[in-house]
Amino acid sequence: MYRLKEIVAACLVACLSIMAVLTAPASAAEEKPKPQTLFINCNVFDGKADKLASNRRVLIESNLIKEIGDDKLKGAKHVEVIDCGGRTLMPGLIDSHVHFNLAYPGGLAVAEGLRWDQLASNAAHAAIEWLMDGFTTARGMGGMSNGLKRTIDKGLLPGPRIYPSGSYISQTSGHGDVLLGSQNNDIGASNLVKLGITQLADGPDAVRAAVRRNFAAGASQIKIMVGGGISSEKGPLFAGQYTAEEIRAAVTEAATRDTYVAVHVYHAAHIRRALEQGVLSIEHGQFIDEPAARLLKEKGAFISPYTAGLTPEGLSHPAYSIPGTPQYIKAQEFAALSKNFVDIIKKVKPKLVFAIDVVFLNGVDARKNRDFEKFAFARFFGNLQALRSMTSIAGELVALTGKNNPYPGKLGVIEKGALADILVVDGNPLKDITVLGANPKYFDAKPRSQGIKTIRVIMKDGKIYKNTLN
Ligand SMILES: [Zn+2]
Repeated sequence: MYRLKEIVAACLVACLSIMAVLTAPASAAEEKPKPQTLFINCNVFDGKADKLASNRRVLIESNLIKEIGDDKLKGAKHVEVIDCGGRTLMPGLIDSHVHFNLAYPGGLAVAEGLRWDQLASNAAHAAIEWLMDGFTTARGMGGMSNGLKRTIDKGLLPGPRIYPSGSYISQTSGHGDVLLGSQNNDIGASNLVKLGITQLADGPDAVRAAVRRNFAAGASQIKIMVGGGISSEKGPLFAGQYTAEEIRAAVTEAATRDTYVAVHVYHAAHIRRALEQGVLSIEHGQFIDEPAARLLKEKGAFISPYTAGLTPEGLSHPAYSIPGTPQYIKAQEFAALSKNFVDIIKKVKPKLVFAIDVVFLNGVDARKNRDFEKFAFARFFGNLQALRSMTSIAGELVALTGKNNPYPGKLGVIEKGALADILVVDGNPLKDITVLGANPKYFDAKPRSQGIKTIRVIMKDGKIYKNTLN
């Protein structure tokens, strides 16, 4: 009996020491310090304020901004130090309207003829280009499931955070109806439908099903077409698309995932119809009138216009500048109908985000498009508004994805606890927007290589993608 007790006690001691050995590596792993980066000598644009905060330090731990302070702020022993040298530290930029899968020259008919590998590899290139231009977040406004996003998030490819909408959803003969005449209304024959770039849905039940298919493909928000567009041929600009019931179906279905609906739309009446059904993001919207702008503001919704099209240079876009084509005629109509846009937005001041909407361009031409859009937007609305629209306001917009947000945390701000998406740039962008790559020339600009020289550091999610300072 006594012996048995001894044996049990010996066993217990042995078991406990084995357990101690087994748990040792785990506790050592817990003690492994989190990576830290300390930015010193920085003038900070926080995404909101109209002035830079001078001589600040910003401490990053893992993927978050841990602390902002003065010279007393120090990191842990292992901290990596980056000296801003008096340059501006600011949030990574957010492009609120991208179509990486449509970054292919030649319009919808060409896209309809492309294989998946052409579209996908081209989109991957676009993602690298956007990040190297300082865009750490891109809001996919249709034509993109979460495949590219997942590859980027896993660290396999450099690129921005992507908020995908899945395929854009359109009515038959709407802005997203890409079927060629030869396909004779046979949806199954469409390459872009098969590849999940676009979906055609007519009637509230079909719209609801299309929204659900997009959630299955990893959409963080939903995009539907509520009016005609310039790049498409079947929906005239004056005609509204989708009934209130169909819009409502998309909004209520999106709400089941705690997220929102964005709509492609231009005319004031169609903007109002969408807002009244609970839509929270107006994509484009350049034919807005004052009552629609007031409703937009009252609802707390956002407007996401490209502004290059409002400039005289806008009509030189290769996709819209060939006289006699439907795109050319629509671009002229667009220019005439959007004359009051800037004045109305400046007067009513709704939540305005920055959106380039590059389509059917890649490489050097897409760079020219991005550079000029930054310039045109800032020329219309001022540098401060442009900077806020590219950072903190867009950060609020992507957060509307609620529980469906693939990147929970604050974006577009330099604040304690925010996600560490950071740029360091030469000069002061509040005074000179060209330090972010803005260029007064459009397609007549000198071709440039990848990346913007005056953007010296690009950090996304705490990881450095570019640093020409150290
Ligand atoms: Zn678009």
